[in-house]
Amino acid sequence: MRIGIDLGGTKIEAIAIDGATELLRRRVSAPRGDYAATITAVRDLVASIERELGATCTVGIGIPGALSTLTGLVKNANSTWLIGQALDRDLERALGRPLRITNDANCFALSEATDGAAQGARTVFGAILGTGTGGGIVVDGRVLEGRHRIAGEWGHNPLPWPQDGERPGPACYCGRMGCIETFLSGPGLSATYTAITGRHTEAAEIATLADAGEPGANDALAVYETQLARALASIINVLDPDVIVLGGGVSNISRLYARVPPLLKPFVFSDSADTPIVAAHHGDSSGVRGAAWLWP
Ligand SMILES: [Zn+2]
Repeated sequence: MRIGIDLGGTKIEAIAIDGATELLRRRVSAPRGDYAATITAVRDLVASIERELGATCTVGIGIPGALSTLTGLVKNANSTWLIGQALDRDLERALGRPLRITNDANCFALSEATDGAAQGARTVFGAILGTGTGGGIVVDGRVLEGRHRIAGEWGHNPLPWPQDGERPGPACYCGRMGCIETFLSGPGLSATYTAITGRHTEAAEIATLADAGEPGANDALAVYETQLARALASIINVLDPDVIVLGGGVSNISRLYARVPPLLKPFVFSDSADTPIVAAHHGDSSGVRGAAWLWP
């Protein structure tokens, strides 16, 4: 049996699966800002699940960020209290067993490739459009980590084929300007709506407003769709995945799946551009599921 853990910024979620069957699921609040309490929370979560199941399980963990190949310590995490910590060693010591740890977007892609919306596809790009813009790559059922463990991290590339209003683009927390994340994250979509209408609203609300016929919301989504198409076209030109799966809050906007694919063609270096763009099947559960699947 396998345990998967999604170490999020606000919650820590765990799942136990046997084959493809979900046995149980647990969720606790993340001890924000407290690294030692985070280790203890994961240890207690695993202990309580194994007590209930009466078995020792493999444990896979999805984290925001990655373990640096240079230092072995966590980098790139928006849960900043994890940065610079030897998370894998500390957790292995706490749990008394070897672990598999990877980026949460990789877990998302692995879950969808294993038994989700991308099941059966050889090369899968999983894109998270949420608070941030993450990405993961799965080839032949395995996560492609990359030399620096950043494979699939498209969010801090510049938005490709920028138009005049998109240059130099918003400042990003990474120190650069015009990153894909500043346009395609939920806050990015909100900012586009504000630029067009002068009003603020959350990304989740914009689709509802567009459905109700508000021109500003419709325009903001139309801009977002061209930006998403350009950003995904640049992925297709490098990776040429068999399928692209979208997850995260913004991926719940259903019109993206009809409107973005026809916009790809002018930017894809090919005589056809028919890459399927599909919604995640497991939704928010893909993080924990993919973490469990890290063990074969
Ligand atoms: Zn950036």
